[in-house]
Amino acid sequence: MVPVIFSEEYLRYDLGESHPFSPVRLEMLVDLLREWDSSFAPLRPRLASRQEVLSVHAERYVRRVEAASRGEEVADLADYGLSTGDTPVFAGMDEAARWLVGGALTAAEVVARGQSKVVLQLGGGLHHAQFDRASGFCVYNDLAVAIRYLLQQGVRVLYLDIDVHHGDGVQWLFYDEPRVLTLSLHESGRYLFPGSGGVTEIGQGQGVGYSWNWPLEPFTAGESYFAGLRLLYRKALEWFSPEVVLVQAGADAHYLDPLADLMLTSKTYRRVFAEILTGASRAGAAAIFTLGGGYSLDAAVRVWALLYHSLSGVEPPRQLPAAWLSRWRERSGKQLGPLLCDPDEAPPRVERKAVIERLNQANAERLLATVGKYLKP
Ligand SMILES: [Zn+2]
Repeated sequence: MVPVIFSEEYLRYDLGESHPFSPVRLEMLVDLLREWDSSFAPLRPRLASRQEVLSVHAERYVRRVEAASRGEEVADLADYGLSTGDTPVFAGMDEAARWLVGGALTAAEVVARGQSKVVLQLGGGLHHAQFDRASGFCVYNDLAVAIRYLLQQGVRVLYLDIDVHHGDGVQWLFYDEPRVLTLSLHESGRYLFPGSGGVTEIGQGQGVGYSWNWPLEPFTAGESYFAGLRLLYRKALEWFSPEVVLVQAGADAHYLDPLADLMLTSKTYRRVFAEILTGASRAGAAAIFTLGGGYSLDAAVRVWALLYHSLSGVEPPRQLPAAWLSRWRERSGKQLGPLLCDPDEAPPRVERKAVIERLNQANAERLLATVGKYLKP
C-alpha cells in the first residue's frame, strides 16, 4: 500500500458552511477508505513551523494571517487577498493552513529520505497562494514550501499540476528557478480563474524555459487531454530529468465539476494517474501526490479514491460500500451513485469536438517549440 499522510487537523481548514472548498470532501474520502479497509492507517504529518512558511511567503503577509487567525481586527486584509469572498478569514486559520503545509513537507521528507518512491498527501494542493497574498481559497502554498525543502536537499523537481485552474502561485514563486520545472494543464485563462497560464509564460532570467503551460479549450474531453498530457509530461521527463515529480491532483477537471468546463471522466483520470506513475518510475523519479480543487462532492471523492488505488497498485472495487453510501447520502443530501466509476456513456457528447482537439494540439506543439529552444538537448 502507498504511504498516505493525513490528520484530522486538515479538516480545520474550513472556509465556511457554503464555501466550495469544503473539508467534507476529505471526510467522505477518508471514511470511504476506512470502510473499504478497516486497517487503513495514515501517517500523521507534523505541523509546519512559521519559519518553513516564511521560506516562500512574505513576513508581512504571514503576520496578517496570524492576526486574522486570532480574531484581531486588521484594516488592510483585502490588500493581502484575505477576508474576500474566495478566501474569508476564520479562527485558527494560520494553524489549519500550517497543518496542510506540514503534510506536504512530511510527504517530501518521506521521499527525500528514500522511505518510499511514491507517497500520497491526502489534502492540500493550495496552488494559488502567492508570495504576499492569499488567492482562490489558498492561504499558504503547501506545494511551494515542499518544493523549497526539496531544493534544499539538492533535488530537482518537476511540478505537475492537473487541477483545472492554472497553478499560478507555484509558477510565480519559482518563475526564475531552473531547478524547478512547472507544468500546468488547465482550462484556458480566457475563460477561467485565475486568468493566467498562457503558452507564452515560460519563465524568466535563469528560469526561462522552465514554466510550461497548456491552456485547454472549454469542453475538452478525455482523449485530447490524455494525448497532450502524455506528450508534454514525457518531454518534461526527458528534457529535465527530475528526481521528484510533485503532482497537484485536483479533481475539478471532471465533467461534473460545478466551477469549470472540462469533460474528464473517471476513465481519463485512471489513465492519467497510471501514466504519471509509469513515467516517473521509468525516469527513476519519486512521485508525491497531493489533492487540490474538486467541487463536486460526488466526483472529487471518487476520483481521489481511484488515485489511492492507482498508487497502491490495487484494482479498485466496482461498487461503493452500501453503509458508506447511506451515511453520506443522508449527511450531504446528495444523490450519490452506487458505482465508483462514471457510467460508460458519460460525459454528454460535446459539439465542436474536432475544433477543440485541433486548438489544444496546436497549443501543445507551440509550447514545445517555445520551451524546446531552451531545454531541448
Ligand atoms: Zn482548481
